[in-house]
Amino acid sequence: MEVSFAGKRALVTGAGKGIGRATALALAHSGAKVVAVTRTQADLNSLVQECTSITPVCVDVADWEATEAALQDVGPIDLLVNNAAIAKLQPFLEVTPDQFDQSFSVNVKAVLHVSQIVARGMKARGSGGSIVNVSSQVSQSAVRDHAVYCATKAALDMLTKVMALELGPHQIRVNSVNPTVVMTDMGRRGWSDPEKAKAMMSRIPLGRFAEVEDVVSSILFLLSDKSNMTNGVILPVDGGFLAC
Ligand code: NDP
Repeated sequence: MEVSFAGKRALVTGAGKGIGRATALALAHSGAKVVAVTRTQADLNSLVQECTSITPVCVDVADWEATEAALQDVGPIDLLVNNAAIAKLQPFLEVTPDQFDQSFSVNVKAVLHVSQIVARGMKARGSGGSIVNVSSQVSQSAVRDHAVYCATKAALDMLTKVMALELGPHQIRVNSVNPTVVMTDMGRRGWSDPEKAKAMMSRIPLGRFAEVEDVVSSILFLLSDKSNMTNGVILPVDGGFLAC
């Protein structure tokens, strides 16, 4: 399925590495004008070197005021991918208030904020749009040491649904993708132990983790006109993990 995003403007958060970087590049290669948002300048430098049409924005999306300032001049956006997140793993009894606050700030509050900024513009222009939130299979399935991360993604799923409800009348669709493990930097931090990886993989009917491209394809589908009537969906990209 070929999709073209020619004439569209997209914003991707967490575009410096992993899934976000690949999504930004895929959108640019499919014709979109892409704004790439992340917090490490070196990642943006290499991204722009790889694809010169990408506009870099360096900001920590957990910083409300800095994000407001950084995004005020990015212009109209038709497609938004809320991908930036952190995963700080700790046993439940050792979770600290800082870890809780940082995780919710990036994984939930920043999604709300960036979406507000972008969706206000979409509403004002009456042009509609599509937003994809990058959640996780663990929004719906408990995983050891993931108490806070699981909770942020569960909150994100409900945020997706309420956004779909309230933004739908403005022809703004909001959906999420919920991947299984992907061996990005984040994936490697959590799943490099072969025993742990084997146990997780044995619960995935397709018998493998997801590739970055598997997730990007689902994001592009939900951003595109091919999913015009799909709104408020929580889409597993998990090889069947959540079905079992
Ligand atoms: P990576 O850690 O590889 O990349 C995350 C990117 O987001 C980095 O560029 C990072 O920048 C950026 N980022 C993080 N926090 C902020 C912030 N506060 N402000 C701006 N940018 C930020 O993660 P993945 O690509 O693996 O994950 C992408 C998404 O997929 C996340 O939402 C994650 O929860 C989800 N996911 C990942 C899975 C996996 O196994 N990898 C499984 C299921 C879901 P920097 O490096 O500078 O911090």
